[in-house]
Amino acid sequence: SDKRENLTYPLFGQAIRELAQTVADDGYEPDIILSIARGGVFVAGGLAYALDCKNIHLVNVEFYTGVGTTLEMPVMLAPVPNAIDFSNKKVLIVDDVADTGKTLKLVHDFCLDHVAEVRSAVIYQKSHSLVDCEYVWKRTDEWINFPWSVEPPVVRREGQILDA
Ligand code: 5GP
Repeated sequence: SDKRENLTYPLFGQAIRELAQTVADDGYEPDIILSIARGGVFVAGGLAYALDCKNIHLVNVEFYTGVGTTLEMPVMLAPVPNAIDFSNKKVLIVDDVADTGKTLKLVHDFCLDHVAEVRSAVIYQKSHSLVDCEYVWKRTDEWINFPWSVEPPVVRREGQILDA
């Protein structure tokens, strides 16, 4: 359909507080927040403050090998988190959306081998997702516009003085 789920920055602020409250009410106290770049970094930063967790890690996951060429499965790009840092830790994986759920499943399966406990938090989850995250702010099947990616990258303008 043409309908869009529109997340604005003000609504994002509300989503973060409510998502964090859900985690806290559940009694889960993560030692590590593991964000999935790039969209998950916004969510992870907000949750890290709201949950008072100072230990944030990041993984890069790639779905594309080139222009228009998609891998069948996403892959984690180096550098991957150090297994020693993760051993016996409670991890909260954070992303913007579980859509197919393939990205989250990849990171979740990676963590299962290394950590004490792992759970996932997302702002949105779609009904066809192959993972069911413990913490979901809102369920939708629409295409989501996120505030950080709804606009194209900025273009450098001519005539700017770049040297001091
Ligand atoms: P997956 O299909 O593996 O669950 O989602 C992979 C990534 O695709 C997400 O982390 C997100 O960056 C992007 N993505 C999936 N669904 C949407 C959507 O509805 N809107 C936007 N803007 N990005 C999406």
